[in-house]
Amino acid sequence: MKLSSIFAQEKPTLSFEVFPPKTDDLYEKVEAAALEIASLKPDYMSVTYGAGGGTSRYTVSIAKDIEDTHKVPALAHLTCVSSDKGTVRNQLENLRQAGIENILALRGDIPKDGRVSTDYRYASQLIEEIADFGGFCIGGACYPEGHIECENLEEDIINIGKKVEAGCSFLTTQMFFNNDILYSYIDKLHKKGIFVPVVAGIMPITNAKQIYRSCELSGTVLPKRFIRIAEKYGDKPDAMKQAGIAYATEQIIDLYASGIRNVHVYSMNKPDVARQIQSNLSEIIKG
Ligand code: FAD
Repeated sequence: MKLSSIFAQEKPTLSFEVFPPKTDDLYEKVEAAALEIASLKPDYMSVTYGAGGGTSRYTVSIAKDIEDTHKVPALAHLTCVSSDKGTVRNQLENLRQAGIENILALRGDIPKDGRVSTDYRYASQLIEEIADFGGFCIGGACYPEGHIECENLEEDIINIGKKVEAGCSFLTTQMFFNNDILYSYIDKLHKKGIFVPVVAGIMPITNAKQIYRSCELSGTVLPKRFIRIAEKYGDKPDAMKQAGIAYATEQIIDLYASGIRNVHVYSMNKPDVARQIQSNLSEIIKG
């Protein structure tokens, strides 16, 4: 099922994310986690591509497993920064063969050695390519606090407009911990004439150290309220997990209450985290 049809139903959605294994021997473990999350029957599940330490090789097979086993629509991520057109077309063919209908089209992070594709510079070019290939519902990434490489938010939003023009029909946000930042961002998108559904990406923090590092890399601001929790419970994994899930739950309830319909949880291959959040929201997501 295409995500555009799900978003058009105008009911609250909750989706989860998994990333493929880093090495072959971890495949079964990741597959089991993905299927356990899928058994919760979220509105859809996304499978990253070469991000979070996962490899790109298994994105298609994990996405297909999720769809075949639990009939949960899959959103396969695809990046272009290190790919040529042939590799991209090949992956699109694989996705089509597997029956996957949704792609989150990304540029990807510039590799440490700086070597990038000469075929693609920006995600909007990948989006054009996928639209030209045909048959997919295409999403893109957006950054409520601005993408780290962009000089200012205004310009970043102009670039988001280019993705939409190229054929992107929804946007998923980078993680954020202060909902007011998202509300103000959506106002800015609307002022630039961008009205595609914006899916709020929420990261339940279960490991404080990791999050300090990834927020630094992505330019995401951690509110004082969150830092106090991380400082108090960061060295106590079970307490940190409980607090992280509670913080994410509260954030999501405020989002739904404020009219944001679509929430994506960066569940990071953790079925227990996905299950707890879904259970915390059981009445709320009935709409
Ligand atoms: P782009 O949209 O190309 O933007 C990159 C930068 O270029 C921005 O600063 C933008 O303002 C600028 N720009 C865009 N177009 C133009 C233009 N025409 N002229 C001038 N400047 C321009 N990474 C992975 O490797 N695998 C994943 O699975 C993955 N999933 C993600 C999912 C989400 C929801 C998000 C938010 C990020 C994800 N990432 C993933 C990370 C992503 O690849 C990086 O954030 C990357 O640095 C930017 O990707 P993009 O698609 O937003 O790039």
